[in-house]
Amino acid sequence: MAHRPRTAALIFEPGSSARNVTAGWRSSRPVVDLANCVGCLICWIYCPEPAIIVTEDGKVAIDYDHCKGCGICAVECPRRAIRMVRES
Ligand code: SF4
Ligand code: SF4
Repeated sequence: MAHRPRTAALIFEPGSSARNVTAGWRSSRPVVDLANCVGCLICWIYCPEPAIIVTEDGKVAIDYDHCKGCGICAVECPRRAIRMVRES
């Protein structure tokens, strides 16, 4: 079996990921049904990324530049207000 060289990301500045798109490999994305959302923010608590955001008008939204598509928010939402949709 041929060996392939391993590559890894090089981070030269700690905390810089907030300025970069880090979700390019996501295979599905969460979509919030605001008609069912009650604003409890359980999704925000469970999200392993800083990808659940609250807009200026108080609505829950997804930061798709940083959401990895793990689906935890969709599983934990008590209102089933988040569904995962395949990326095209
Ligand atoms: S967990 Fe569900 S109901 Fe609660 S804020 Fe998130 S999307 Fe809305
Ligand atoms: S899919 Fe995962 S990373 Fe994306 S918003 Fe939901 S919990 Fe956060």
